[in-house]
Amino acid sequence: MEYTMHDYKLGGGFVENSSFPKCQKCSAGDLVPLSDFGSQGAPIHYKAWVCTNPNCGFNLKIRNGDVYINEPVISGSMHSARAR
Ligand SMILES: [Zn+2]
Repeated sequence: MEYTMHDYKLGGGFVENSSFPKCQKCSAGDLVPLSDFGSQGAPIHYKAWVCTNPNCGFNLKIRNGDVYINEPVISGSMHSARAR
């Protein structure tokens, strides 16, 4: 018997061995945690969660104790203009 890529269709039962929560928006992607580094260089684990589905783009961030959901991605040029 031959195995083909058709056995691993994306979007339907392709489950990796992970415990990441499913994205509640598209129900297709998984939410994966991202880490960042603080102003003192200390790592901030699980600061943001993003959907692995590129067509979805759902993201969730934690900043200063507040949770930001689906914040638009801001380009680098905009970022430096932000006031504290
Ligand atoms: Zn999603």
